[in-house]
Amino acid sequence: MNWLRRFMMGRYGVDQLSLAFIIAFIILNILSLFIPSVFLYVLYLALFAVFMFRILSKNIAARQKENYRFLRMWNPIQAKFSGWKTKLKNRKQYRYLVCPQCKGKMKVPRGKGKIRVTCPNCSHKIVVKT
Ligand SMILES: [Zn+2]
Repeated sequence: MNWLRRFMMGRYGVDQLSLAFIIAFIILNILSLFIPSVFLYVLYLALFAVFMFRILSKNIAARQKENYRFLRMWNPIQAKFSGWKTKLKNRKQYRYLVCPQCKGKMKVPRGKGKIRVTCPNCSHKIVVKT
C-alpha cells in the first residue's frame, strides 16, 4: 500500500462532499434498475469523473472551498432532519406548537390539561390543551 500513499501525497482525498457523491452513486444505481436510461448513465459517468477529479486534485484550497459550500447547504437540511427525529421520539412527552404571532417553535409537556403558554420569542400568550 506504500505506492498508494505516495500517489495520494499532496492530493485532496475524500471529504464530506465525496461521501455525498458516493450516496448519489448508490441512488443512481438503484434508480437505473427501475428506469433504464442513457441520461442516468451519462449523469453517473459525469459525477464519477468529478468525484475522481476531486479526490486526486492537488488544488486543496479550491476543493476545501467546495466542501465548505456543500456543508453550508447541507447542514440546515441535516438539522431539520434531526429536529424531526427528536420530535418523533418525544411526541409522547411533548406537544410541539407554533406561535401564532411570530411563528416561533415551542414545546409544552403533555398531560397537564389546559395551560397558558408564553412564547419565549415574543412573549405572546396562548392557551393550549396538552
Ligand atoms: Zn411568538
